Amino acid sequence: LVANYVEVTQLVRDDHGVTGAIVQDRTDGAGAEIRAEAVVNATGVWLDRLRSPVATPTIRPTKGVHIFLPRDQVGNRHAVALTTKSDGRLVFILPWGDLTLVGTTDTDFSGDSDRVLPDARDVDYLLAAANEAFPDAGVGRADVVSAYAGLRPLVRHGRDDQAESDISREHEIFVDRDGLISVAGGKFTTHRAMAEAAVDVVQRRLGSAGGNPTPASNLGPPVRPLEEFMALGLPEDIALHLQSRYAPEQVRRHLDGPGTMERIVEGRPHVWAEVDIAVQEEMALTVTDVLVRRLGLFYEAADQAIDTAPEVASRMARQLGWDRSRVAREVEEYRALVRDHRVFREDRGD
Ligand SMILES: Cc1cc2nc3c(=O)[nH]c(=O)nc-3n(C[C@H](O)[C@H](O)[C@H](O)COP(=O)(O)OP(=O)(O)OC[C@H]3O[C@@H](n4cnc5c(N)ncnc54)[C@H](O)[C@@H]3O)c2cc1C
Repeated sequence: LVANYVEVTQLVRDDHGVTGAIVQDRTDGAGAEIRAEAVVNATGVWLDRLRSPVATPTIRPTKGVHIFLPRDQVGNRHAVALTTKSDGRLVFILPWGDLTLVGTTDTDFSGDSDRVLPDARDVDYLLAAANEAFPDAGVGRADVVSAYAGLRPLVRHGRDDQAESDISREHEIFVDRDGLISVAGGKFTTHRAMAEAAVDVVQRRLGSAGGNPTPASNLGPPVRPLEEFMALGLPEDIALHLQSRYAPEQVRRHLDGPGTMERIVEGRPHVWAEVDIAVQEEMALTVTDVLVRRLGLFYEAADQAIDTAPEVASRMARQLGWDRSRVAREVEEYRALVRDHRVFREDRGD
């Protein structure tokens, strides 16, 4: 069972240790208690909220920021890795369709981990790196299509004087006295190794026989031939875009709605059927889910899809039964998110 928007508010413990979790559905406040023989805590930078009190925090969160720029302005044709003049750190400048992705920063973070935003210093650092590598680019804050920030859940190893970029990216598994299994550190690129190690611990706990199926399991279905998407009668850029994300039969299931194969935003290959897929097949429950976490127009569209948000909300309303006040709230929440992610533009450094 996969449940999104369900928060573990507390773990259930008895004399033998952790026996389950109290959960709350963040969409309607409904609560439930789930019993389990093994509980794995994979909550990233929030890891210690669920562990029994620990003397030193497990995680040393570092903030990382990326920015998207117009690629024709930067002028990069290939992926570039460079060490910056200012501090000798490694920065990547990557082609992303007609955009360029520049990242990252790596700085200690001690603020509210539920609210992490790119600030002017982060953005200026990355712009300087891009201008250093491509002196004709001349990119400034006004050229930034989008900027976003995240926290790396790095494992703390006692020494706080260690530079952020030198902290190990290795993962670790902690088994507490109460039996809670916590997975910390690691990277996207090592997520399967992390999962495999965690499943090994769970299998030992459950005393289950048989091998671990993780190494031999496929990662999702294979990419299908472009012709199968072109057969839907689409321009090549849209077909290529859909090919990288869906199976053709999945797209075909959503051809009947209004304007399904029309572009959501001029100049981008995303089509309205993708909003329907996000809602009906990918558990999207808010406009922010759709525009940030499923379609990514928040990152890629020139206006971060702020003008399209009302139309996205209306379409979702028809499928999810929202009333007008919910539509207005969804649009306002999305606009506020975009505003917060553009605050760096106004910062004059005084
Ligand atoms: C800027 C940046 C650049 C990066 N670049 C790379 C890269 O190039 N390559 C790479 O391999 N890795 C990269 N990483 C690292 C990678 O993003 C992380 O290692 C990875 O996201 C960690 O995954 P995770 O599942 O452990 O934690 P997270 O992705 O943080 O997931 C934890 C989840 O737990 C949920 N959660 C927390 N508390 C609760 C609760 N009480 N109840 C229910 N759910 C809860 C959260 O909502 C969240 O969804 C980068 C990270 C950053 C910030």
